[in-house]
Amino acid sequence: MTTKITFWSGLDTIGANIISLEKDGFQIVTDLGAYVGADIEALLDKSRTSELYESKLLPPINGLYPEVQVKDLPLESIEESDLKTAICLSHLHLDHLGSFGQISREVPVYTLNKSEQFYTQLKEQELLPQYDVNWQGVETGVTFEHGPFKITFHESDHDTIGAAAIFIEAPDLKLVYSGDLRLSGFAPERVLDWAIKAKEFQPDILLLEGTSFSSSDEDIKEEVPFANETETWSLLTEQSLLAKLDDLLTQTSELITFNGYPQNIERLIHVAELANKYQRKMVLDPAYFELAKPYLENQSMELMKLGDDVSPAEIKQTPEQYVVQIAYENHEALFEIGTGIYIHSNGMPLGPYMPEFEPFFERVIEAGWDVIFANVSGHAHQEDLLMLAYLIQAKRVVPWHTFRPIAFGEALSNYGVPVFLPEKQTEYSLENILNQSK
Ligand SMILES: [Zn+2]
Ligand SMILES: [Zn+2]
Repeated sequence: MTTKITFWSGLDTIGANIISLEKDGFQIVTDLGAYVGADIEALLDKSRTSELYESKLLPPINGLYPEVQVKDLPLESIEESDLKTAICLSHLHLDHLGSFGQISREVPVYTLNKSEQFYTQLKEQELLPQYDVNWQGVETGVTFEHGPFKITFHESDHDTIGAAAIFIEAPDLKLVYSGDLRLSGFAPERVLDWAIKAKEFQPDILLLEGTSFSSSDEDIKEEVPFANETETWSLLTEQSLLAKLDDLLTQTSELITFNGYPQNIERLIHVAELANKYQRKMVLDPAYFELAKPYLENQSMELMKLGDDVSPAEIKQTPEQYVVQIAYENHEALFEIGTGIYIHSNGMPLGPYMPEFEPFFERVIEAGWDVIFANVSGHAHQEDLLMLAYLIQAKRVVPWHTFRPIAFGEALSNYGVPVFLPEKQTEYSLENILNQSK
């Protein structure tokens, strides 16, 4: 039997990129994120499988769900199916693991050890839901087998710890799944390293994320809310953010608060190092403090836990001594520590499309904070994606994890990279794919 590949979701959205590969009674599914529009809480409720299935908010994959959840559905449960299924998880974002609450505990879930450990910490701090799955941590670069499939995870760089690209080899098909990635983070060398390995691997298919191809020039011109009352730093890399912060710290003795993204612990630690460089103490929200602790290489770094080590009133008295990280979940603290410069750097609320965004910033500005928007993307720039695809030289590249797969595909074609745009929920062999595209 030839290897069959099916694309379930994620072809023209950001996230929920799901494929299955099947050969000789073995199946690999990678990833298993929340579908766009699926409620994260509903996805945790095993009594709602039918409802999610009927609403087309779960992939209709055989051999994945327990019998009790799918007995009334035209799906083979894990008990009924002859398939032996394994899941490979590229990284810990909900658009990649958000459907884990629905699957059988029997299915092994492979991910990098680093990612599994980070998951445990995020779950303990209630920054990710509790998924009771059969975690199987693997090391970067170490190949393991699932039936006829040989699988290797290679650590990559994205705005979470333990993100990986996944190489899968069947006797008749070689595939590389990029996961989400960037060359503008703290470890671009990891991406270049796996990309060179991918070229040597000579893949038939490269599944490449294309988040940065999602907005057209018109979208970008859209008006930013509070544009007149706030400042925006246009930042291309993590290092450009740190350079701007460094500059700011030389110029001001005002209190600085920083609202970042919990999974980007490396950014938070670099901000803390900068604070220390300017004789300021970094004060963290209690959950983030616990999350950051295991990743501190420099043990002499001065980190304080908000509430336990220093109170909001103490910060208000000597604002020049601190950089304070305030999470949206505990944002009342922001109105107890005085005012100064508020840096919003991929923290919640993420953007104007979230209902919390406008009321929150109205209040922050009203309270007297000088707001700076300072986001850095977790995703590669367009030209970096094109360069990687050009370097890897797969027989076909599938552009996905983007709202504009056709635009991304055209850009790849212009680079001389052969593209394949699959149909959703259609089974392909490699031969089909090669014949249907050029
Ligand atoms: Zn994603
Ligand atoms: Zn991601």
